[in-house]
Amino acid sequence: MIPSLCLRQLYKSVPRLYNIPNELLKAESLALVPTHELVSKLGLVQYPKAGLVHWLPSGNAIRQKLEGLIRNEMNGTGAEEVSLSAISHSALWEQTGRWGGHELFKLKDSTGSHYCLVPTCEEEITHLVKQGLKSYKDLPVTYYQINTKFRDEKRPRSGLLRGREFVMKDAYSFDLTEEEALESYNKMIEAYASVFKKLRVPFVKAEADSGDIGGSLSHEWHYVHASGEDTLFTCLECGNVLNVERTLSYPHEEQQHDDVKVKYFTTDDEKTLVCAYYPGSRELQPLFLTEEIPDIDLSGRLSEEEVLALFKDEDTLINKKIVRIMDLRLNLRLNFPDFPINFINRSLITTLTDIPIVAAEEGELCHKCEEGSLTSKRAIEVGHTFYLGNKYSKALECQVEVPVDGAMKKQDVLMGCYGIGISRIIAAIAEINRDSKGLRWPAAIAPWELTVINLKEYGSDFLAAPFEGLDWRVDARPKIGLGRKIKDSQMMGIPLVAVVGKKWPLIEIEERGIRVALEATKALYDQKTFEWELTGDLDSDTTVKHLVHSDHAGAVVRAILTDM
Ligand code: ATP
Ligand code: MG
Repeated sequence: MIPSLCLRQLYKSVPRLYNIPNELLKAESLALVPTHELVSKLGLVQYPKAGLVHWLPSGNAIRQKLEGLIRNEMNGTGAEEVSLSAISHSALWEQTGRWGGHELFKLKDSTGSHYCLVPTCEEEITHLVKQGLKSYKDLPVTYYQINTKFRDEKRPRSGLLRGREFVMKDAYSFDLTEEEALESYNKMIEAYASVFKKLRVPFVKAEADSGDIGGSLSHEWHYVHASGEDTLFTCLECGNVLNVERTLSYPHEEQQHDDVKVKYFTTDDEKTLVCAYYPGSRELQPLFLTEEIPDIDLSGRLSEEEVLALFKDEDTLINKKIVRIMDLRLNLRLNFPDFPINFINRSLITTLTDIPIVAAEEGELCHKCEEGSLTSKRAIEVGHTFYLGNKYSKALECQVEVPVDGAMKKQDVLMGCYGIGISRIIAAIAEINRDSKGLRWPAAIAPWELTVINLKEYGSDFLAAPFEGLDWRVDARPKIGLGRKIKDSQMMGIPLVAVVGKKWPLIEIEERGIRVALEATKALYDQKTFEWELTGDLDSDTTVKHLVHSDHAGAVVRAILTDM
C-alpha cells in the first residue's frame, strides 16, 4: 500500500477550491447565472470589489497557459520580454499631453510628487528606449511585457471583461524607416493571427480607429458575440470588415429627411468654425469630419457654447473661417437650423456637400466597393494593434542621428504598439463557449487537460503511466460519487474526463471540449492498431465516448486534444 502522503506527491489532484456549488447542477439554474458570476462560483477567480480580481488556482492556470502561448508567439517575432514598473511619474505623461486622461489611477507620494498606476506603457517604454539608444544601428527593437494594467473605468463590467485592473500583453516596436516599421507591424499582426488561431475561437480582424493612442494604421481583433460592446460592419459583397467608427456608408436611394441637426466644432488653432449638418434621426460620427478637416479638435475640451463664443466677435472674424459640412443624406432644399452667428462676409464661408458623416446603418451601401450592403454585428474587442509613427517619439524626443548626404541628421524613431487583453480573452471565451453544462475551454488554455476519476477499488498506482506528459488531475475527493465528478469536470470546462474503473485495463474517455478539427483523432482511429472502441459520431458535435486500452490511452488523449 502506498501511504497517503506519498500519493499526494505522486498525483496531481484537482485544486482545493474545486468545489462546485450544488445549486449549479440543474441546467435551468445554471443558465440563469451570468458568465462572470459562473467563473467566480466555479472558483476560478474572485472579485474583491467591482473591477478588481483575485486569481485562484484554476483561473491562474488558465491565465498562465494563455500567457505562455502569447509569450511563445512574441518570442517568435524576435521581440524581447521586459517588465516595467507598475507606477509611472506624471512628467512623461505631461509631455505627451495624456496626464489629463479620464482613466488614470493617480497617486501622490509623501513629497507631493504625482504618479499613476500604468494603464499602458507608451510613455515609459519610449523614454526607456531613448535612454538606451546610442546609434541608429541599434534599431529595430521590439519589447513586450505581460503584466497588470490599471484603468479607472467608470463602469467596470462583467468581471474580467472590463476590469479596473486587468492583465495585458503590450508590445512596442521601434524602427528607423517607415518601411521597416510596417514590416514590424506586419510581423506582429501575423503573430496575433497565430495566437487567435491556436485559441480556436473564431475571430475577426477589423480596420479600426486608433482612438486615444493616435496614428493611422490600426486593427482591432474581435470575437463576434451579442454581448460585445463594439459594433462591426461587414460588406456582403467585398467582405470588408470595419469598426463602426470607421464605416463610411451610402444610402441605397435618396431618403426624405425633414429634421436637420447641427453640431459645432473648431480646429486646434481655433481659427475655423466647423458646422456639421446631419439627419436628426441619425448619429453624427465626428471622426469622419477629420477626412475634410484634419486638424479638427475632437477632444471635447470646449463645449459647443465655448466653440461658438470664439466666433462671436465681429472684429476678429476677418482672420477666421467657417466650414459647413453637409451629410450626403441631406439636400439643400431642406430647412437648416438658423446660423448662430451674424456673418456679414459670406466669402469666409465654405460649404462642403455629399460627405458621409453619420454612423452607418444596417443595409446601407459599403463605401469601399460601393456595391454591397452592410450588415452589423456586436463584437468583443480582445486585441488592438497600432502603427504610431512618431507620435510618442516626437513628444518624448526619442531620436537617432542618421547620415544624410555626408552629414548627421536627427530623426524621430517610428513606433508601433500592440495590445492583447489576457483577462478579457479568458472572460470572452468563457462567455462564447459556455453551454447548458457549463464552461468549455479550448485545450490550449484549459486549467488542465484531463480529469482522471479512478474508482477506489482499483487502486491508484497504475494511473501515472498512461497519462505521462499530459496535464491531468485526479479527482480523488472521497465522498463524491462518479456521476458528480464527471459533471463537475464538465461544468469546469475540462476538455476530457477519463474513468478508470471496472473495465480496466480499458479506460473510458469522455469528450467535453469543442472539437474544431478531426484530423488527428480520425487519422489515429483509422489506423485500427489500437484497442479502441468509439460511441457517438466523430463527425458531429454529439458527445463522443472512447473505450481505450490503457497502453494506448495517452496517444488517444493527445490526438483528441490536438483537435480541440
Ligand atoms: P475598450 O474600448 O474596450 O475600452 P481600449 O481601446 O481602451 O478598449 P486598448 O487601450 O487598445 O483598449 O487596450 C488593449 C487591449 O486591452 C484591448 O484590446 C482589450 O483587450 C484590453 N483591455 C482594455 N481595457 C480593458 C479593461 N478595462 N479590462 C480588461 N481588458 C481591457
Ligand atoms: Mg478603454
